[in-house]
Amino acid sequence: MKIDLHASLRAHNTFGFDVSASHLAYLESKSDVVEFVSQASSSKQPWQVFGGGSNLVLAKDLPGYTALMQIKGKSLLKESPTHFYIQAMAGESWHEFVEWSLNNGYPGLENLALIPGTVGAAPIQNIGAYGVELEEVFDSLEAFDRNSQEFVTLNKQDCNFSYRHSIFKEEPHRYVVVSVCFVLPKQWQAKLSYAELTKVFANQQSLKPIDIFNQVCAIRRSKLPDPQAIGNAGSFFHNPLVSDDLYQQLKQQFPQLVAYPNGDQWKLAAGWLIDQCGFKGCVMGRVGVYEKQALVLVNHGGGTGEELLKLAEQIKKKVKETFGVSLTVEPVIFN
Ligand code: FAD
Ligand code: NAP
Repeated sequence: MKIDLHASLRAHNTFGFDVSASHLAYLESKSDVVEFVSQASSSKQPWQVFGGGSNLVLAKDLPGYTALMQIKGKSLLKESPTHFYIQAMAGESWHEFVEWSLNNGYPGLENLALIPGTVGAAPIQNIGAYGVELEEVFDSLEAFDRNSQEFVTLNKQDCNFSYRHSIFKEEPHRYVVVSVCFVLPKQWQAKLSYAELTKVFANQQSLKPIDIFNQVCAIRRSKLPDPQAIGNAGSFFHNPLVSDDLYQQLKQQFPQLVAYPNGDQWKLAAGWLIDQCGFKGCVMGRVGVYEKQALVLVNHGGGTGEELLKLAEQIKKKVKETFGVSLTVEPVIFN
């Protein structure tokens, strides 16, 4: 296992923050994972495993041990009369895996196209987009468990998935995910609940998974900043879930409020709340809010995680004052 000392993480986080890792390891096999955890644990210093760095705010140099998950491989594991079971190793690019699944005749992941990052990180926040969440297509995963010091298999129940949440957020650093298995029905059904997909495809005959894939990619390219050009981590805040009482109160006060029913609660569009507070397109030094989507905070170049977190605090304060709603940060923060 290769370890670099005092290595820059600038190319390994999509905000492009220029911080360093005291020890940076590259995990290319399951035995690298065992070696890394053993070495990092015996150092008695903090340690963490990253994928593509697309859901991180690195606001300081990282002491201790950091690893980049780079184990590769993907395959059809098995099939039943009704389902395909496909597996990818944790270091595979999520988007490339989605493309591969479609090219090989295993549809079902197309709504989740073009989400940056790795397969291994996808269960951590139960990634979701355009009406599909990872948990709907998840079968199981294999992870190294720091507590038992062995590889374990976790099924859907073990992972305790909910909206952008899982066991891995409750017990951070306990598990290092090494592979994920997905279960996809052979009887494919298009998922078109989101307005941007409904509009385009509602009346289309013989719709194919690749059509949805292409449309999702096109919408995302038109609305979201490419991290290669403008540093960002996608949505910076979760869409808050509020009670029916609060929703009714807010709807009366703000008739344009954007909200969607979510069980017995309502999901408020955090981007709309932030936009109403006047932050869309704002620039604060070298960081700011993306001009086309107020939920995305950006690094215009040379900014720091500290600057970004200050801006995030201002946004949270103003949203709380205006709507009485608390925003929570989505990316994982190191400060
Ligand atoms: P990282 O950022 O490297 O890590 C995130 C967390 O997972 C960290 O806590 C890390 O320690 C942990 N982790 C990473 N790999 C492992 C592993 N193998 N084992 C254990 N823990 C691990 N998210 C969505 O849900 N939906 C979207 O539509 C979406 N769109 C985005 C668009 C843009 C432009 C960007 C920049 C981000 C977007 N995201 C979205 C957020 C992000 O892409 C996802 O959360 C993604 O799954 C993060 O993957 P990563 O490999 O980059 O993880
Ligand atoms: P959008 O379509 O402008 O919608 C705004 C918000 O309303 C979204 O966050 C979405 O919640 C919710 N929404 C819209 N239509 C809905 C419906 N029919 N039913 C339930 N909820 C609905 O959002 P956007 O910013 O362009 O993003 C499009 C999709 O990509 C969303 O699913 C979003 O989550 C995902 N995305 C995520 C990230 C990230 O970093 N997490 C970044 C970019 C895009 P949900 O977020 O719950 O879907």
